[in-house]
Amino acid sequence: MGVVDQSAGAGRYAPSPSGDLHLGNLRTALLAWLFARSSGRRFLVRIEDLDRARDAGNGAAQLADLERIGIDWDGDPVLQTERGGDHDAAIRALAAAGLVYECTCSRKDILAAPSAPHAPPGAYPGTCRDRSDAERAAERAAILPRKPALRLRVPDGTATPGFDDLVLGEAHGDIDDFVLRRGDGTVAYNLAVVVDDAAMGVDQVVRGDDLAPSTPRQILLQRLLGLPTPPEVEYAHVPLVLGPTGKRLAKRDGAVTLGDLRAQGVEAPEVLGRIAESLGLAQGGERVTAAAVLRRFDPAALPREPWVWTG
Ligand code: GLU
Ligand code: ZN
Repeated sequence: MGVVDQSAGAGRYAPSPSGDLHLGNLRTALLAWLFARSSGRRFLVRIEDLDRARDAGNGAAQLADLERIGIDWDGDPVLQTERGGDHDAAIRALAAAGLVYECTCSRKDILAAPSAPHAPPGAYPGTCRDRSDAERAAERAAILPRKPALRLRVPDGTATPGFDDLVLGEAHGDIDDFVLRRGDGTVAYNLAVVVDDAAMGVDQVVRGDDLAPSTPRQILLQRLLGLPTPPEVEYAHVPLVLGPTGKRLAKRDGAVTLGDLRAQGVEAPEVLGRIAESLGLAQGGERVTAAAVLRRFDPAALPREPWVWTG
């Protein structure tokens, strides 16, 4: 690896090791790499292995697949489970500012509670927000052996953070008092992502557009924690790959991983070619290298519609 300019900013790809990467994941990874490299940024990888229940332990296999299609990265991949100290410190800082409270609600409680006026569907209704210390102690005892989750007390009068997405344009989203740490002790995705991206010097987040609704929450956390935030950090939420039924591509759609495709005689360079073709960066059937795709990449010309994979 050559000398890396630490001042250059960084993009990243942050897969959850919950299964083999499929074409949708690979396409998002390639786009994240293209956005970063074409803008002179470093490119980093983080394995988001916090969710032990869903962890298939295949982070290394995912990295090998990225390499097979020509994606390279700077430095060692970061394991999110090794970042607990920073996650805890961030929750402590929010708590010290009075912005954290315990929530003893079960999923069922939340669904059953009347929702606040103008709240988006599924939003947390605020049941545990204003309890006294005595009420909290009683609630804590009542749910044993379950433990309370920790939620962010979104400060009253918080304006919903909008952001200017490189793909979606002006984007907004409502924010409720979302979870920072689950009852089982696991740090929530939104908290971990914000803390880790900042620690890694990430100033460009490229990911699937299914995560666009999480972004206002993450921007609010950046502001509350005093971390870099837009316009210093840029976001690009890219279209997902759909399967033949029009739903988001998944294992049930057949041969969708590099391993599946290799078994059918389709090697990684050909898969890269198909992905590049879907991005308007290769001709049908053309064999391309990642370096060639990078030379052709123009963020402004990115197709805005999902790619439908029919096999
Ligand atoms: N780990 C998340 C996923 O695989 C992506 C997180 C992110 O890019 O912010 O869906
Ligand atoms: Zn609650």
